[in-house]
Amino acid sequence: MTPMPELRTGARDECGVFAVYARGEHVSKLCFYGLYALQHRGQESAGIAVSDGSHILVSKEMGLVNQAFDESRLAGLDGHLGIGHVRYSTTGASTWDNAQPAFKVTPTGAAVALGHNGNLVSTAHLVEQLGAAGERCATDSELLTTLLARDADASLEEAIVDVAAQLRGAFSVVVMNESTIYGFRDPHGVRPLVIGRLPRGGYVLASETSALDIVGAHRIRDVEPGELVAVDEHGLRSRRFADATPSFCVFEYVYLARPDHNAGETSVYAARHRMGEMLAAEAPVEADMVIPVPDSGTAAAAGYAQAAGIPYGEALVKNRYVGRTFIEPSQSVRELGIRLKLNPLRDMIAGRRLIVVDDSIVRGNTSRQLVAMLRQCDAAEVHLRITSPPVRHPCFYGIDMATRAELIASGLSSEEIRDFVGADSLAYLSLEAMVSSTGRAKGSLCRACFDGEYPIPVPLLQSGDARVPATP
Ligand code: SF4
Repeated sequence: MTPMPELRTGARDECGVFAVYARGEHVSKLCFYGLYALQHRGQESAGIAVSDGSHILVSKEMGLVNQAFDESRLAGLDGHLGIGHVRYSTTGASTWDNAQPAFKVTPTGAAVALGHNGNLVSTAHLVEQLGAAGERCATDSELLTTLLARDADASLEEAIVDVAAQLRGAFSVVVMNESTIYGFRDPHGVRPLVIGRLPRGGYVLASETSALDIVGAHRIRDVEPGELVAVDEHGLRSRRFADATPSFCVFEYVYLARPDHNAGETSVYAARHRMGEMLAAEAPVEADMVIPVPDSGTAAAAGYAQAAGIPYGEALVKNRYVGRTFIEPSQSVRELGIRLKLNPLRDMIAGRRLIVVDDSIVRGNTSRQLVAMLRQCDAAEVHLRITSPPVRHPCFYGIDMATRAELIASGLSSEEIRDFVGADSLAYLSLEAMVSSTGRAKGSLCRACFDGEYPIPVPLLQSGDARVPATP
């Protein structure tokens, strides 16, 4: 069955991870709520693995978190440690088999479960180590789990340290065996992973702080790039498998993370608000109202409006219940395009000169449909303001954007893009302002999709322009 066309505005994240160790708590419910808070990071499948100290149980399903789990299913997942995962696929098909946590049994019958956010850019050397077993792996996450299970009998922790040091790419990973949860992050720390403490004791690892908040945990710190943390009955411990060379994904601030994620010193909301303020200074235009493309444009539109002294309004209503669905749309529904996701408020739009604030333009088709929809509602003028620079280069680190040929800014000038989308004016935030809004040093951020400076070498860049180097 063909999946329904994706309704987000361009880039899509690839997975959220969660892990918890808490005696006396119903950890499968904590995993459920943690994943619920991370639903925006992956909507194709959801899974939870728990252990009571002796056995690991894994439960996973296609669909959203609350489609995959109900009260009775969670009640059957009894234990005091667990991990969870929500998936959006970039390598490997969107199937139940490829849903995570991935699960493997070691040669002596112990178990390893794993959830991965990111993308490995080079896996041939790992496949070679495993021989036929490696060739059978459908995803880089399965390959990773197979490698760990092969060596985990002696010590899963030592196996992780050994394998993690050999990985190339972006990876924020949670792993468990029967007694311990682990979390580790690639030396560049491209994707997020934070540590939280539960009020009655116990620890949580999660892709975003919103997943800590929902279970009542308070943020302690990030898992550092190149760090492995472990939680068991003795508490939390840490060790390094590589030196840190931070290159955190700047697109997490622009679009991917929830606004209530606290990415270091700065919340994503505050960063987006500053992006809007700076955009107002860099690209002013006379208008009657500033409107966001919800939700990722909302904070930035508020910042733009405040800085420009132009009223803020909401003229696009988002269908918050749109997720990924496996119902094939009829042709008449397909033609509705962007209206499946956003519905315009005509009385807010008609006769007004609008500044429309959005996070990015990837292929340009969504912006074109958006502008056309606003014009159908008799907008007097439509000025597009984008809170990031033009996306000219593909992402190889776990974000499904497009191939270079599909990226509209890789082939067209800003004026040509303005003409294509049909706006009265179009302006992007500068790279310097975007970086500055995050409060982080430029050198500690990955900006590769904007400036082409890839912090982790990507082999296929030499030979072509594949979307993502596929797992062999
Ligand atoms: S290339 Fe872009 S989306 Fe990918 S990790 Fe780097 S900044 Fe993030």
